[in-house]
Amino acid sequence: MPQFLRTLSDLLESSRATITQDELSALTDDVRDAMLSLKILVPSRTATHVVCDACHEDHVEEVVRIKAGNDVAFRIRCPDSGWVDVPADRLRQWTMDTSRMVSLLSAGIGPADAAEAVIPDQVWRLGSVEIAGVVLSIVLVRGGGIKSLGTVAAKLPPQRTVVVRTADAPDMVDGYAATLALTSAFALDSGQFEFQINRVRALLVIESAVVGNVFHRRGEFWQMSFEGDTKYFKDSVGIGYISRLLIQPHRIISSVMLLAARAGIDSLVAAGTSGEILDEEARRQYGQRYNDLQEDLEKARHNSDLGWQEKIENELEALMVQLAAAVDIRGRSREQSDAERVRRSVSEAVRRDIERITKEHPALGHHLTNSIVSGTDFRYAPERQTDWLT
Ligand SMILES: [Zn+2]
Repeated sequence: MPQFLRTLSDLLESSRATITQDELSALTDDVRDAMLSLKILVPSRTATHVVCDACHEDHVEEVVRIKAGNDVAFRIRCPDSGWVDVPADRLRQWTMDTSRMVSLLSAGIGPADAAEAVIPDQVWRLGSVEIAGVVLSIVLVRGGGIKSLGTVAAKLPPQRTVVVRTADAPDMVDGYAATLALTSAFALDSGQFEFQINRVRALLVIESAVVGNVFHRRGEFWQMSFEGDTKYFKDSVGIGYISRLLIQPHRIISSVMLLAARAGIDSLVAAGTSGEILDEEARRQYGQRYNDLQEDLEKARHNSDLGWQEKIENELEALMVQLAAAVDIRGRSREQSDAERVRRSVSEAVRRDIERITKEHPALGHHLTNSIVSGTDFRYAPERQTDWLT
């Protein structure tokens, strides 16, 4: 449930003391249910003020309590609408039980050691993992806590510490073994957190530069290592597409799959390859539809049902056009664009970025030129088996 971790991460990052019933209602059902059943959000005192929902002014008013016989009612005063009833439910408020959350995350790393606050309310040591004979502390750092990390270096030696941050796509913190976002450090499965040790392993390998080929986004830059030569490139659309192709060599990848990776709804890609372009709700809706169609397509192919297959392919094509409009950050989203045009622009972005890579890193550029087949569909088909850390 990636939305759950995103919501959790946002709540931690904002350091909000209180969550109103309105905010809780705005969450998707499964995220809300998980927050409450895991007891990460617990009831706190009721609200004394609410936003008026009778007009469009979004003004905040003090709640007045009215007693009529045995019944109690709540009202606020709206300049437009007069007295407005407030259902008692709207006055409920919630607070985040951070120590509960920290201990749940800690349990997701392993039973070995308990969580502890290193800097109250900002930095927690969640536990430790052993990778290649080295014991690494896993620390959770919220928001501004990152600035204070140096003050606890005696307790958390940087080269032996993995930093988990609540910010999305966090920059590497200098000197630390690895830095990753809470949303990629953990997964939630059947109500339990699971620490994603493989992601840490991948980052560490990059750090020690002992692996061969790397095509990996680190914040705003992509690290590209090939044949012993490493270069860094600023993020761009085509690079995101190329990275998606490298994940599945020899597979035919359609334009819609590339766009899905860019939009952050492709299950093989942890986050949108060019940052978070879609809001959570859009990502959920597109993601659901995309995954359903991909599953149906597999089934239709498996059953050799050509009529069904064609129908799904048409729907995927329509989704591709919608996605292209949704993720196009250069403002062409209002224009009508047909499927052919979308394919051309995807193909063009790939070509442009291979050219860009070739200028800085000729060996890699030539390899990509020779191995990437583009056109209606795409395929990364290297002559010799080439493994990538993506
Ligand atoms: Zn009002």
